[in-house]
Amino acid sequence: MSSQIIPVAEFDLVVFGGTGDLAQRKIIPALYHRHRDGQVVGDSRIIAVSRRPLTPDEYLAKANEALEEFVPKEEREPEVVKAFIKRLSYVAVDVTDDAGWQELKAKLDTHSDRVRAFYLAVAPSLFGQICEYIGNTGLITEKTRVVIEKPIGKDLNSAKALNDSIGKVFREEQIFRIDHYLGKETVQNLMALRFANALFEPIWNAAHIDHVQITVAESIGVGSRGPYYDTSGAMRDMVQNHILQLLCLVAMEPPMSMAADAVRDEKLKVLRSLEPITAENNDKVTVRGQYTSGAGPEGAVPGYLDELEDEASKTATFVALKASVANWRWAGVPFYLRTGKRLPQRSSEIVIAFRPVPHSIFDTGAGGVAENRLVIRLQPDEGVKLWLMIKDPGPGGMRLRHVPLDMSFAEAFEVRSPDAYERLIMDVIRGNATLFMRRDEVEAAWEWVDPILSQWEDNGDSPKKYTAGTWGPAASVALIERDGRTWHEDD
Ligand code: NAP
Repeated sequence: MSSQIIPVAEFDLVVFGGTGDLAQRKIIPALYHRHRDGQVVGDSRIIAVSRRPLTPDEYLAKANEALEEFVPKEEREPEVVKAFIKRLSYVAVDVTDDAGWQELKAKLDTHSDRVRAFYLAVAPSLFGQICEYIGNTGLITEKTRVVIEKPIGKDLNSAKALNDSIGKVFREEQIFRIDHYLGKETVQNLMALRFANALFEPIWNAAHIDHVQITVAESIGVGSRGPYYDTSGAMRDMVQNHILQLLCLVAMEPPMSMAADAVRDEKLKVLRSLEPITAENNDKVTVRGQYTSGAGPEGAVPGYLDELEDEASKTATFVALKASVANWRWAGVPFYLRTGKRLPQRSSEIVIAFRPVPHSIFDTGAGGVAENRLVIRLQPDEGVKLWLMIKDPGPGGMRLRHVPLDMSFAEAFEVRSPDAYERLIMDVIRGNATLFMRRDEVEAAWEWVDPILSQWEDNGDSPKKYTAGTWGPAASVALIERDGRTWHEDD
């Protein structure tokens, strides 16, 4: 079965930070795949911009290296790579001064009628200045959009300041705030499951759902990113954006349509319904952890403080939270959220745990009746599993078994699962903002997160230690077990 490719209109995509990690690892390979599938048409151009004075050939060689490193060999047909590389060019601009902008303008002016997107793959401290130069240089046309990445601020005030600086130049509908989790196939499938099947929506509420779990686990540590990560930590890096966005998609009311604002209005209502965590209940519903030396995917690994070379850091590399959505649909349903580095595996999943049957008709010999669970796996292998009770096949009387109805997308549809950036960049070109965060969503998420961060800071405690290669501090297990529940294990 092949997937349907709808070509997008011809475009010019300007990638600020074109030599950086994000561009090389994600953006360029994503564009290559879209080109290879025939979605990028005509003489659509990708113009990389960075500070260093590279010749065009030097940049093309660098882009080629990125493809060699990040696109599997069997997907790199020489003719296709050659044609793709022809779309690329390079302009050296130090975005903190005037040089180079006119060269960029001259290049863009040759096609002023086509879709034009500026992807700011640079540090957020440069966003404001870049936008100002884009505006002052006269680079904004009717079909212009700008794309930005997390982190959007480190708290509510800085997020507002950042949004203001971009908003001075671009209208809100021109601003595409990427949360790449929203571009994942399974995340979009969550919407398809919920809203394209009559089966789930009637039971998608507190009467039938016992609790929800969202786990975003990484097996890697911070490595050389330590100094940057230390200013952020798990709450800002993962919870404020990715995890809360996933929570929104699980908890939102059915939107009127898939139109960007219809979906984003519903997500916003969820964020605004999150019950605030207070200084009084903070230690009962939140856990912070920091990894010590232990086991990594490839042997022994050092602890966070050793990597950082700062014994005093209180930055959390693990967070577990019990959140509540205070509305009719979700009253009394806990949302257990956890994320961390140096956990036993890289895996992200959403677990919807349904309530158990009200009465078992089976005798004790049949075994217990476990609850139904819908598990939406985001990574590493995207798919959905519905855990059901069935009769153990064969003779031997009625014995019950808990088995997953497994839909691994890669196997079921025999198509390559596209990287989230492929979908999202094409959506930018199409002008479809459904999977992008609106300003008010980002700020509402900070409004919920900020007090938790300040409570942690005020109480002065250090995060609880956990050994690298384990599922976080024991307190995270206690957080859920106190309620008579356990973290989901996909056995
Ligand atoms: P990076 O590897 O450090 O790259 C930074 C880029 O910015 C380089 O291309 C650099 O160009 C350019 N740059 C720096 N100062 C400049 C200036 N004054 N004028 C013009 N260009 C300048 O960073 P990154 O990891 O790609 O991250 C970029 C952004 O994406 C950050 O906001 C980051 O938080 C976000 N992000 C990254 C990832 C990821 O996977 N890497 C994921 C999510 C979000 P030169 O090389 O010429 O100096």
